[in-house]
Amino acid sequence: MKHHLGLIKEPSYETRVAFLPEEVKKLIDKYEVKISVEKEYGIQLGIPDTDYTAAGASMSSKSDILQHANLILSINDAIGEQESIPPETSFIGIYNPLFFPERLQKYKNQHALVYSLDRLPRTTLAQAMDVRSSLDALSGYKAVLKATDYYSKVFPMITTATKTLKPARVLVLGAGVAGLQAIATAKRLGAIVHAFDVRKAAGEEVRSLGAKFIEIEGNKEETNAGGYAVEQADDYKKRQQDRINEQLLATDLVICTANIPGKKAPILVDEDGVKNMPSGAVIIDLAAEQGGNCSLTKNNEIVNYKSVKILGDSHLSRELPDAASQLLSGNFFNFIKHMIEKGADNDLITASQIINQENT
Ligand code: NAD
Repeated sequence: MKHHLGLIKEPSYETRVAFLPEEVKKLIDKYEVKISVEKEYGIQLGIPDTDYTAAGASMSSKSDILQHANLILSINDAIGEQESIPPETSFIGIYNPLFFPERLQKYKNQHALVYSLDRLPRTTLAQAMDVRSSLDALSGYKAVLKATDYYSKVFPMITTATKTLKPARVLVLGAGVAGLQAIATAKRLGAIVHAFDVRKAAGEEVRSLGAKFIEIEGNKEETNAGGYAVEQADDYKKRQQDRINEQLLATDLVICTANIPGKKAPILVDEDGVKNMPSGAVIIDLAAEQGGNCSLTKNNEIVNYKSVKILGDSHLSRELPDAASQLLSGNFFNFIKHMIEKGADNDLITASQIINQENT
């Protein structure tokens, strides 16, 4: 079947753009895909419609695109409850379906096919389409820069004729993609960095970045968890909490990134821990959307607890919209290319398919 790709404008809160003119041109030139783009599609990045038409796409209205394209691409939810679409229209996006299954009901009602790229397996072949790695890397980096805005002391040791300012002490919780990027960024700024993860393998990566890995014995790992963390036993959680609370006594900045797919994020920083942190400490909680790693976190809010600031934001890559759009556009291009070259029955494509004809 010849593909007709529709690019739908993102909701007003979204700063990123899913598909850039560069990838539009590549898809049209190489695969002869017809591409329709909603008017003012790239406006949040300052990309004029003429860049999309120059790349070979045509501009159209949302309703027209939803009626005629067979493949719809958007980062967030593309359709409202009332919008009608022809059955078997395919949607590609990032839906976090394990944690927000209710988002999918309207697609099921309309007999759509839905592909969520955050469900791709973390394999070598899927790396070029891995939207989570792209966004988490940027969020981890931005989390540290964000912390510098709210922290009123310095990251590196600064020696002057009158006094020496001590370097900041950073604790990174969760050493996956976002955590490792946060460690690397904090190290570059001259901070003393500690990190903790329940996966033993993360220790080696943490140490290779020059940070100290906090080891807690008795963790649970499952070989069939695809490299992800699993929920831990209660006695382990207790030891983990004690060890983290001890570390927090001398920690100025915490970057929280720990997640378990589809589950509420583990609480790693409790009120007692925050209470005892040094004055002026800052916590950036990237796990906020799934409940947060700090018990005081509020998603998309800044909480002031005594002198500690706690920022909850799981989408910090939105504050780097240009960089994030470049990576996303490349990921989506590689996914569509793979779909065209290998067909929709290919293993990677079906792994990301969260609604298919059987479960509509
Ligand atoms: P994630 O976002 O699901 O979680 C972030 C980190 O939090 C993980 O390292 C996890 O182990 C950790 N965590 C979970 N519960 C915790 C707890 N109670 N205490 C402390 N830490 C906790 O993870 P991610 O960044 O997406 O990475 C998940 C896995 O996927 C890793 O093994 C990573 O190396 C792998 N990965 C592979 C590829 C690839 O091969 N293409 C790409 C990216 C990631």
